[in-house]
Amino acid sequence: MPFTKLGLSPAVLEGVKAMGYVEPTPIQLRAIPIIMAGHDVIGSAQTGTGKTAAFALPILSKLETHQPHTRMLILEPTRELAAQVETAIRDFARFTDLQVAVVFGGVGYGRQLDDLKRGVDVLVATPGRLLDHLGRGTCRLDKITHLVLDEADRMLDMGFLPDVKRIVEKCPRAQRQTLLFSATIPPEIETLIRWAMKAPQTIEIGARRTPAETVKHVIYPVADAQKSDLLLALLERVNYESVIIFCRTKHGADRVAHLLKRNNHAVAVLHSNRTQKEREQALRGFRDGRFEVLVATDIASRGLDIADVSHVVNYDVPQHPEDYIHRIGRTGRAEASGDAFTLMVAEDAKHVIAIERFICQKIPRVKLENFDYRYTALFDHDKPGQARGYSGGARGVRVHGGYHFAPGRRRR
Ligand code: AMP
Repeated sequence: MPFTKLGLSPAVLEGVKAMGYVEPTPIQLRAIPIIMAGHDVIGSAQTGTGKTAAFALPILSKLETHQPHTRMLILEPTRELAAQVETAIRDFARFTDLQVAVVFGGVGYGRQLDDLKRGVDVLVATPGRLLDHLGRGTCRLDKITHLVLDEADRMLDMGFLPDVKRIVEKCPRAQRQTLLFSATIPPEIETLIRWAMKAPQTIEIGARRTPAETVKHVIYPVADAQKSDLLLALLERVNYESVIIFCRTKHGADRVAHLLKRNNHAVAVLHSNRTQKEREQALRGFRDGRFEVLVATDIASRGLDIADVSHVVNYDVPQHPEDYIHRIGRTGRAEASGDAFTLMVAEDAKHVIAIERFICQKIPRVKLENFDYRYTALFDHDKPGQARGYSGGARGVRVHGGYHFAPGRRRR
């Protein structure tokens, strides 16, 4: 079904056309008619499925023309996501006269105050800075008719739920259409749903539990003390074009980034302790190829539209199984092939088991050939390179009782 059959306004359709979208994605097909009909919606679709347009297109169509007060509020867990969503909405609304603004912390108030004073129809915000504006009286939510709680489970993980509740309370309930997107629905989110939403309809799309078939993924068991050496050796031998390295903590990400810089890699870092400017520079530099390596935490990178990386390295095993899918989903997009490597130390065993249960497959254990391994008990459990069902090596890599690597490196 084409976009023209979904009841969207002519100006919004023009925006969609200018974006080059030809057909709606599955979540857009399902969600747009339900949102146009005015229902509350719970969506479990993940980023990369076209979720932003799924909620933005129908609401922008309903808002139609500019009014001097904010009617649509979108809450996002991180500044990057807020900025990304605002950009998308600006694009969709290009042929309307609707005003769009974004407010998030880590930057000055000046421009945000100017935007808010001007009167915006659509406001994208992170919870903390929005509460600051509400406290200062520089922003009002009493005319909100459409509220979007995006990445709700991530807002919960980040401790934003009390802030989110305070914000929801300020959006008049009677006239409000509420949309909530969340990859998982833990009990706290269920309570929020019952409290904040009216007879919501649920749409489950793209909540994939299986990694893309185009991604080859393997685990490298290693002694804790050798993790960084193994990472350096892997980067040295693998033919990568661009790689994201995921770390569990901000400090861990900084440590890995320093290590790589010392070893002459062009590295960008993305985590929430970096200034807004640093984060923007990191993302821009990685996207345009100035940095070949991006070291990131889950929270900072979740939901970001960073596609087309050739390799993902989990320097730390993700603690939530669904993060494994998110992380390795950065590679192997759009039919391109990609590789995902996970470094595993003894204490990761229970997380790896949880991941394997979640994705219903055993991830092959492999060893890097000619790497001077120290003993770890992990080697007694897993026979490297011989995992059942594993029929191939990662790109540029041949498996033969361990790993051989193709000669030479191909960098962009
Ligand atoms: P999202 O899941 O909203 O982050 O979107 C992921 C990517 O898909 C973004 O780069 C969008 O611009 C793109 N996209 C969304 N909907 C469509 C569509 N119907 N056709 C083509 N690309 C789309």
